[in-house]
Amino acid sequence: MVLERSTWQDVRDFDREAVCLIPTGSLEQHGPHLPLFTDTLLSTGVARLAEEHRPEKTVLYPGIWLGCSTHHMAMPGTATATVGTYVAVLSEVIEAGIHHGFRKFFVLNGHGGNTEPNGVALRELKAAYEDHVFSHCGYFQFITQAELDSVLKGPLKGIRHACEAEASMMLHLYPDRVRKDLLRDDGLEMEPPAPEALNYIQHFDEVTDEGSWGYATYADAETGRQLIETAVAGTVQAIDHIHAGYVMRGAVK
Ligand SMILES: [Zn+2]
Repeated sequence: MVLERSTWQDVRDFDREAVCLIPTGSLEQHGPHLPLFTDTLLSTGVARLAEEHRPEKTVLYPGIWLGCSTHHMAMPGTATATVGTYVAVLSEVIEAGIHHGFRKFFVLNGHGGNTEPNGVALRELKAAYEDHVFSHCGYFQFITQAELDSVLKGPLKGIRHACEAEASMMLHLYPDRVRKDLLRDDGLEMEPPAPEALNYIQHFDEVTDEGSWGYATYADAETGRQLIETAVAGTVQAIDHIHAGYVMRGAVK
């Protein structure tokens, strides 16, 4: 069930046990080769394909495109919400769904900067609506390290930003939006290297030359197809789990 194509009478008749699937993304720079809308296109693309597998269990929301992107603001075209604004927008979209009787919510994220704010929003909502179900993850988290090791061809076996993985997924889903002649490798090394557990909060003009981080020259559509299929399968499995509900068993004595 797709909200943007539905009428209010359609929604009145939707099953209230269906999972409200809300993609989140960004409008932020993705280097010289990918469009500003990349994260939103990918999270909404995965969500759309997942809904096609489970239309009766899913209420697909339009993607929330305004993300937390302060770390990309050095490059024009990027728009960002402050964390408070972002949390308020996401929470109020969900609260509207609650108002209309829905109980189960799944936020599918496409942008790393939204990860912590998504968790904050859902924790606040859980405190206010204890018998409702709130869950979230990045679509990219369904792709295991083992799959990245085997599928990616470049030296970086991970998903960063406008990298081989993101460029490949864009080539698969939206080939005409990729500037193939401008694909590039980018990402600066910290000197001296930081302790592994330490997280620096950095801006992208500190860590890249032109805004991308990874080896996008290795990107191809077949790699993207495999990654997207895994992400869709993981999203469908999550929808099934959220829809079915769960119990917490007691500790083994
Ligand atoms: Zn991205």
